[in-house]
Amino acid sequence: MSRYFSRKYSELEPYTPGEQPQNMERLIKLNTNESPFPPSEKSLRYARENTRSLNLYSDPNCVALTKKIAETYCVDPDMVLATNGSDEILNFAFMAFTDKDNPALFADITYGFYPVFAQLNGTPFETIPLKDDFSLCIDDYTGRKGTVFIANPNAPTGMALPKSEIERLVAQDPDRVVVVDEAYVDFGGESCVDLTMRYPNILVCQTFSKSRSFAGGRLGYGIGSKDLIADLNTIKYSTNPYNINSMTAAMGVGILDDQGYYSANCRTIMENRVYTTEELRNLGFTVLDSKANFIFMSSNRIDGEDYYIELKKRGIIVRHFNKARLSNWCRVSIGTRESMEAYIKATRDILGEVV
Ligand code: PMP
Repeated sequence: MSRYFSRKYSELEPYTPGEQPQNMERLIKLNTNESPFPPSEKSLRYARENTRSLNLYSDPNCVALTKKIAETYCVDPDMVLATNGSDEILNFAFMAFTDKDNPALFADITYGFYPVFAQLNGTPFETIPLKDDFSLCIDDYTGRKGTVFIANPNAPTGMALPKSEIERLVAQDPDRVVVVDEAYVDFGGESCVDLTMRYPNILVCQTFSKSRSFAGGRLGYGIGSKDLIADLNTIKYSTNPYNINSMTAAMGVGILDDQGYYSANCRTIMENRVYTTEELRNLGFTVLDSKANFIFMSSNRIDGEDYYIELKKRGIIVRHFNKARLSNWCRVSIGTRESMEAYIKATRDILGEVV
């Protein structure tokens, strides 16, 4: 830290993203929940033909993309805000809806960026422990003051709550905002987007990074009541009005124009998830029921970190979290059938060596 660094950030512990190796040859990358499938030719063509000239600033209102997202979800365009990845809408939500009187509330095991956003914004936060089986109990949030952040499906567990449970929380207390992070919802979860039409205090955040093969394009969005979106726009126009570049904005429209391709990929990933889960369970692993494009597993035959290291030696990168309660677990993104077969083969090999 230089002596010039603002003291307000001296305690800040930044988020650690998963490894992004430069040399991908012979590596199977199952560590950051990207799609194994490229974007469709049709959406790429759309982006090539419709990108606003790059000598001009991008459209700060993102009119075409916002309209397309609104049409896709049957909401009004002023209920939508597009952002630079969903990380940005989440940060905007921390900026807009938390402060010392409205601390952030979230699970002890959830997306690792939430505590970072809270610290960055100088907001107090409280973590609410998941149950021993990693399930989240909505009643644990009842009567606590603060803005709730729930990843549904949760990360890194992949476990999902039904919409009715989230609705119970949203309806309980109209004085607080509930932010539902649906980064992984397209892999079998139940979306809460339609609740945004009926409740003024729910913000749903989604992304193009997982189900839409566009992690590198950095595109996310929030859907909520007009008033919530107006607040978030105040934050956006006070930080970076041109937060979406023109190529990404055009590609977003192209992707939403070719939903069939992306939905088919999600179905394939869900099939591969079933295959991988069954194989691992047959090998004695505990695998949580996942509604995401990853699974979370542990085994009493091998320590979580050792398993991660052994897989890496065999060219397969998964994610291990050095955190209490999680140290014996690994998170594995679901890739192509071929990758998952190679991963299971490597796992058999590893277990053969240690038993
Ligand atoms: N929410 C959750 C739960 C995530 O795991 C991620 C991916 N790291 C994000 C949000 C952010 O994704 P992106 O910024 O790529 O949209």
